[in-house]
Amino acid sequence: LLTVRGLAKSFGDHRVLKDIDLTVRRGDVVALIGPSGSGKTTILRCLNGLETPDAGVVEFAGSPSAEPVTVDFGASTSARARARDIARLRDASAMVFQSYNLFPHRTVLQNVIEGPVRVQKRPKQEATADALELLKRVGLESKADAYPHELSGGQQQRVGIVRALALRPALLLFDEPTSALDPELVGDVLTVIRDLAEQGWTMLIVTHELQFARQVASTTVFMDGGVVVESGPSADVLESPSEPRTQQFVRRLT
Ligand code: ATP
Repeated sequence: LLTVRGLAKSFGDHRVLKDIDLTVRRGDVVALIGPSGSGKTTILRCLNGLETPDAGVVEFAGSPSAEPVTVDFGASTSARARARDIARLRDASAMVFQSYNLFPHRTVLQNVIEGPVRVQKRPKQEATADALELLKRVGLESKADAYPHELSGGQQQRVGIVRALALRPALLLFDEPTSALDPELVGDVLTVIRDLAEQGWTMLIVTHELQFARQVASTTVFMDGGVVVESGPSADVLESPSEPRTQQFVRRLT
């Protein structure tokens, strides 16, 4: 579904991503792990059009609702063509943020239908029915008319997930979806993500929860210092890593 080759990104003279290769197949759940500052969030932001990489090729295969997209960030192209490429990349995936980013003055339902109605121009009635069905799946149908501040952090994050699902993206990107939550709320959110994996959603998840990665992700990618150090089946990478840097990281966190 997604192929990334040679992705590079610097902020000033800080080379945050040096040469990232990454593949996500349809139906895969890929965990992206690594020390703080290794560039994990930056990868997601590049894939979702929130940052523009300096170089690299990103390819999204077509989904039933979208054309294939190939963007070569190294190639020189007009600003207009680049903006169009980035918009197409943005449409192919949806991101769940660390800190939910819900609109505080809109209800749960209004938050969820905002993207489908305003951006995707879907009929409001259809988007509402879809949103209520998705809220039901995460146990929040009774909160449709509540405002974000009336919900716990875990509930807000489940709304954040529903908001991403409502866009019907080919790929879901999660940026440390539980790191802002109190420990007792983490389990509920992880359960929702585990259910999504079982339903066949394709997901790329930045996480510090190695046990969760082991249970839910088919593939784990370990990165450090802007490069992918090791990637493969989660059991191999997390239980018998071959690279010393991965061994050190995994040992420290388990
Ligand atoms: P964490 O696990 O702490 O979230 P990470 O692996 O996701 O870390 P990134 O957030 O991708 O790391 O950041 C990688 C590096 O890039 C960090 O050193 C960060 O300070 C730097 N960085 C990220 N965004 C910017 C920006 N907009 N401007 C300047 N530097 C940035």
